[in-house]
Amino acid sequence: MLSCVVIGAGPGGIVCTKELLEHGLDDVVCFERSGALGGTFAKSYDSLELTSSTTFSMFSDWWVGDDRRHHFWTWREALAYWTSYAEHFGVLEKIRFDSEVRAVSAVDGGWKVELATGEQVHARRVAVVAGNNSVPRFPAWAEELRDVPYSHSMLYRNAKPFEGKRVLVVGGGESGSDVAYEIARSAARCWVSLRETTGWVVPRKRGEVAADVSTHRGLWGLPRGHGERLSKRLIESERAKRDPVFDVVADLNERVRARRGIWGTFGTKTLALPWAVARHGARLVGDVVGVEQGGRTLRTADGATLDDVDAVVFCTGYRNRVAFLPEALQECDPRALYKHMFHPEHRDRIAWLGWARPGFGSQFPIMEMQARLFALVCAGRHALPDGATLERVIAADREQWYEQFEDNARRIRSLVDYHRYMDDLAGLIGCAPPLWRYALLHPRLWRTMVYGPTQATQFRLRGPGKKVELAHEILAKLPVSGWNHVVKAGARGRIEQAWRALLPRKGEAA
Ligand SMILES: Cc1cc2nc3c(=O)[nH]c(=O)nc-3n(C[C@H](O)[C@H](O)[C@H](O)COP(=O)(O)OP(=O)(O)OC[C@H]3O[C@@H](n4cnc5c(N)ncnc54)[C@H](O)[C@@H]3O)c2cc1C
Repeated sequence: MLSCVVIGAGPGGIVCTKELLEHGLDDVVCFERSGALGGTFAKSYDSLELTSSTTFSMFSDWWVGDDRRHHFWTWREALAYWTSYAEHFGVLEKIRFDSEVRAVSAVDGGWKVELATGEQVHARRVAVVAGNNSVPRFPAWAEELRDVPYSHSMLYRNAKPFEGKRVLVVGGGESGSDVAYEIARSAARCWVSLRETTGWVVPRKRGEVAADVSTHRGLWGLPRGHGERLSKRLIESERAKRDPVFDVVADLNERVRARRGIWGTFGTKTLALPWAVARHGARLVGDVVGVEQGGRTLRTADGATLDDVDAVVFCTGYRNRVAFLPEALQECDPRALYKHMFHPEHRDRIAWLGWARPGFGSQFPIMEMQARLFALVCAGRHALPDGATLERVIAADREQWYEQFEDNARRIRSLVDYHRYMDDLAGLIGCAPPLWRYALLHPRLWRTMVYGPTQATQFRLRGPGKKVELAHEILAKLPVSGWNHVVKAGARGRIEQAWRALLPRKGEAA
């Protein structure tokens, strides 16, 4: 019986296999149904560039290259990075390509894993890292599109088929924004239908600097209640640019109704949609509420009529569905899992990785932390809490996400706050960065940890899996935020916070 089977060789499966190997579990196999590693990115649209910068997206212990500090990988570059990582850490030998897992069933305290070829293997544990980007989600009205071809962003490659046509793009998340931008440039007409908001729009870069350098503790260390004021300030500075693209950014961000503003929603970390609107004539419309003439005419909630529609592209996300699991686990709610990873009944025998989607930041460092926790569990160096505690923590975490993200947390079941989630897992692993010690002994590295991107390397300074020398080397190379409007907003927030702490509260004796 194998120690563990990892299902999927996307970035999550690669880092999971690597961590299991580093924890001494040599008898692991990673099954990948396709012929290549890289998951989503190996079959993506031609122009895909990541929305998290290279230094944020990197794994903690494999540097991206000195000339790559403010870069955004194309999908080819991301695959090259993960391939070199997999080679370096001996993961490639553990991946079995062209091996589709058909069924996983519980047997004798472990799992039977059946491949499409009929081969069966037995393992004590299973890591489900098959991604949640393979079952497209469509709104109900898609079924009424009888006379208009429609597709999903999962199948989108480039705008060529839409040249000169009248096209509706549904959804304004990161994929929707990229797709709308490309189509708007060559179509006769491009509408973009938004049900509610696009999340909080931020640019990939500010000048030459990757904008997510500012996703740091200096700002994100503030209490989330500060989100409303912060959001107002961010919108003011977008308006102050007096630039049509940033006017659209401000308009989109003003649609966010969450109490916590930027901290009550998810980020759309690209200006593609604002560019499509401001420079290429894309028109924003509301949710589609009426389908006529088999889809040639569409009516939207804000009263628009879209005539002579030639095609519809749905960028409406995916369902969390894993068809090869036992039926009861196929549509498992991420919020019913301990730390979005462990099922209360199956406990440490199965783990889902990649089912925590950060509002901002990047999913790759999250998957690395999940892999580290899972590997510790598999190596017998970390025990999950007893059943009652597990249930209590699941419920408390769920309430915390509902409190912060409100409806967004109910709708997007995997949505988490990057900093809170990373620090939470770091607490369990025992690798929280020793910030105070570094403030005194290594002030330059401390500055990077607080005002540079909160990526994965700062979690290698202590605890199981620590790699102190390497972490110092990498941290010293990371970019640090300049004194930009985001940092200023954070600094004002800290001053206000300190001021409020000094002032007597209403009803308190002076
Ligand atoms: C278009 C797009 C852009 C994104 N950009 C970013 C970004 O810039 N930054 C960021 O942090 N996140 C980004 N994400 C989110 C997230 O990081 C990616 O979705 C990432 O690919 C998740 O990695 P994963 O390994 O969990 O899943 P995947 O990349 O989906 O990999 C899953 C793998 O499992 C395999 N598999 C599935 N079923 C089986 C089976 N039955 N048997 C064997 N193998 C199987 C698949 O073939 C695939 O290779 C993006 C997502 C999308 C869709």
